[in-house]
Amino acid sequence: MARVARPEAGERRRVRRVAVLVALAMAAAACSAEGSVLAGPGSSARGGTGSAAEATDPPAASTTTTTVPPAPATLRETTDLTIAAVEAFWESELPEAYGVAYRTVSATVPYLPSSGDLPECGPEELPPGLYEDNAFYCHPGDFVAWDAEGLMPGLYTEFGDFAVSLVLAHEWGHVVQARVGVEGPGIMLELQADCFAGAWAADVDGGGSEVLALRPGDLDEAVAGYLLFRDPPGTSPGAPDAHGSAFDRVNAFQEGFFGGAATCAGYPGGGFSVVDIPLTQQDLVTGGDLPFAQTAPLLAATLEAYWTSAYPAVFGGDYAPIGGFGPYYPSTGDLPACDGLGPGDYAGNAFYCPDGDYVAWDDEGLFPALWQEIGDLAVGMVLAHEWAAGVQARAGLPSTGLAASLQADCLAGSWTRAMAAGIPITVDGGEQTIVLSAGDLDEAVAGFLAFGGPELSRESGTAFERFDAFQDGFFGGAAACLAYSG
Ligand SMILES: [Zn+2]
Repeated sequence: MARVARPEAGERRRVRRVAVLVALAMAAAACSAEGSVLAGPGSSARGGTGSAAEATDPPAASTTTTTVPPAPATLRETTDLTIAAVEAFWESELPEAYGVAYRTVSATVPYLPSSGDLPECGPEELPPGLYEDNAFYCHPGDFVAWDAEGLMPGLYTEFGDFAVSLVLAHEWGHVVQARVGVEGPGIMLELQADCFAGAWAADVDGGGSEVLALRPGDLDEAVAGYLLFRDPPGTSPGAPDAHGSAFDRVNAFQEGFFGGAATCAGYPGGGFSVVDIPLTQQDLVTGGDLPFAQTAPLLAATLEAYWTSAYPAVFGGDYAPIGGFGPYYPSTGDLPACDGLGPGDYAGNAFYCPDGDYVAWDDEGLFPALWQEIGDLAVGMVLAHEWAAGVQARAGLPSTGLAASLQADCLAGSWTRAMAAGIPITVDGGEQTIVLSAGDLDEAVAGFLAFGGPELSRESGTAFERFDAFQDGFFGGAAACLAYSG
């Protein structure tokens, strides 16, 4: 028989907060799509005004060799140091991964859209809208250019210096493609550039750079900014300028991060599978979201249906339904009691209570904010995580601690995969199938990124680690999550 795990006396449960949401929402309003210019053979481009040689000069103060490099002090220093680090990385990596020598880029071109003085690329004029809030690699001119007025200062201010670094690293991914002579569908080249950026970020994370280092929280924040450069949901992966969904992009980035540059090699030949959820007619009407009042109850029903069918094969024995679930409203003071939760633990929170075997959530602050700022699947990710704690309790697995929390994200990923196919539930006596809509997986990504901060990361993992666990469940099913048990 499954037993209900009891927390140690006085132990605090996972506490989630929504403060980061506000920053995310504000930044998203200012985002735009990034484009990369790869087309157009031959013909010299003008516009190489900055010099790569200048940019790759070591910083003046680099007199020590063994200490961790300090964080860049300015945006200018960030771009300079990043370019130096990325070029150094590919100089050593490209011969190893591809057997090709790296040749430094001909020029780097920061430009100011308001000045009207814009770099040209090849014989064809670039669409005027391409320059603003953008960065690109010009293949004919072999230079990397970026909006130094809107894009980079915006990223730097909102998401920190490493967000700037990642956008540049992505563009250098296109430089690498040019050196290797990679060809393929546009979206695969974009995802491969994400994969290359991930491989480079891992090198910095591992202390491989003499000029840049990552600090706790840097990567989560930077990935959040990086993801603002994405196609709107429903964009066909076959579209020539498609960049992929946030889900696919983080997946590609993480493949490069964990597997290195060589794992990115197969992308143009179909070595990466895009998870494509088409935009349906109904999505266009509803925006792809369930009405708020129905979101939690319907998703809770899919979680019960999913675990009833998935539990036996993975954990053995039948799944016993969760003892109860429902909302609470912190301002009323009428709160469900749970051993280990204090009065301050309810607002902005959702939890599984082992003693009462129930899931409860703040329906005043947390869920409305998630639903409004991100979408219904962000609510779903929180519910799925708490349901997973209930599943862990049934299976006799620990449901507190970092490994258990990542396992819960993995289990939430397995539910999400089932949701992509559709989960039938009974509503008012009739059967209804709940299925993910276009953009939902991006909401899952945004949901993870919304719960950030060093304090939460210690308890639940960084967004980066959490999304990685989520993907294990998404692609491997619930059985893959057993590996997370501590
Ligand atoms: Zn690109």
